Amino acid sequence: MTVMKKNQIKTVKGFNEILPPESFRWRRVEDQFRNLLEGYGFAELRLALLEPTELFTRSIGGETDIVEKEMYTFLDRSERSLTLRPEGTASVVRAFNQYSLGKISEINKLYYVGPMFRYERPQKGRYRQFYQLGAEVFGEASFYQDAETLVMLAQFFRILEIDGVVLEINSLGCEACRPSFREQLKSFLIEREASLCADCRRRLRENPLRALDCKNPTCREAVVAAPQINESLCADCQEHFSSLCGLLDDVGLDYQINSRLVRGLDYYTRTTFEFLAGELGVQNAVAAGGRYDRLVEELGGKATPAFGFAIGFERLMMLAGDKLPLSSPVIALIPLAEEALRLLFPLYVQLNRQAKVATLGFQHKSLKSQLKKADRDGVGYALIVGPDEMAKGAAICRNMQTKEQTEIGFDSLEEALKKLYHQ
Ligand code: ATP
Ligand code: MG
Repeated sequence: MTVMKKNQIKTVKGFNEILPPESFRWRRVEDQFRNLLEGYGFAELRLALLEPTELFTRSIGGETDIVEKEMYTFLDRSERSLTLRPEGTASVVRAFNQYSLGKISEINKLYYVGPMFRYERPQKGRYRQFYQLGAEVFGEASFYQDAETLVMLAQFFRILEIDGVVLEINSLGCEACRPSFREQLKSFLIEREASLCADCRRRLRENPLRALDCKNPTCREAVVAAPQINESLCADCQEHFSSLCGLLDDVGLDYQINSRLVRGLDYYTRTTFEFLAGELGVQNAVAAGGRYDRLVEELGGKATPAFGFAIGFERLMMLAGDKLPLSSPVIALIPLAEEALRLLFPLYVQLNRQAKVATLGFQHKSLKSQLKKADRDGVGYALIVGPDEMAKGAAICRNMQTKEQTEIGFDSLEEALKKLYHQ
């Protein structure tokens, strides 16, 4: 714990920041994500963090937790209502329409990495500024697309050596079959109105599906026997869902069907899914998403089917973090005298010019403290030059792990260090 003096300024509550050495791990995971997605043909979008509020009220839906309670919304100096983005999909769709990306290519695979903002109660796995890795595919209605994306996500967890993540899937139907389900569910809930929480009662008539997503224990209890959406799917939605399940079976990707998985946003159609990890405790969803075939059109674009997901970066790191090695400098150059520093500086510059990571202490502090720092930095080798070594014309090379030490003559230093880098 750092001690704060009274007059120091702190971050806004719940705004999560990533410091070294954790930031090294984040960077590695982010690189893995980019490599994997670019391999699957995705390209990055870097979008605005601030959007017109209407973008979210229209896409996520008025009777959702995000829009009703969690948005950072304010008026700017010209009295325009703006919102810090609470999620990425709405912004990606806005950009897809604004820049007519659908005209550039038939299938658009786009990904993003960045912060999201929600005014929620900060706790483990839940912050007010948090990070997501997300992606959206536009222009492909086939269940093959759903399967490809789910397989890709499972592959990502495998690359990071995260086990024990369970995939839950469901279908929410389409505009043909969902309205009658909504009515069925509404009548069911009206009969049990008294046992619903205030939010669910209020949303009951406009948006009864929200009750299926409610975390309140009495609501959970009340919906146990509720009608199940996947029993009232139209033939096309039924076909889409069973074909997806068939494909996942073919490729050996395990999943569980959860008929109550509706997600907290209104735009989904057909497939919805979550990847859950018991290890995370209460906030157990590490990634989530689904199909949203109507949203592009609802936000003013040409009717375009779409499928997407978002991964919670903090939760992902809770699962992956400690297993990942830090990417650290390979060699620490340790001078113990002014003339040694003078000798090592050109070598240091030379190594870093070749993009080989080396550190050099300019203060030539004690051997002990420099070695301690090298250890803390996770350095592989330390090259030590003190007065004795200067006299001898040879440096000491110390393997930081085995503590084994060898001598390297000054004239062969560069050559010898190159070899260490290639080990
Ligand atoms: P949850 O059920 O945890 O509230 P959600 O349904 O609100 O999640 P989405 O909007 O689908 O989540 O966001 C996708 C992912 O982003 C979540 O699965 C989670 O990993 C992460 N996430 C969502 N909200 C937060 C938050 N406040 N802090 C940290 N991560 C979050
Ligand atoms: Mg939430």
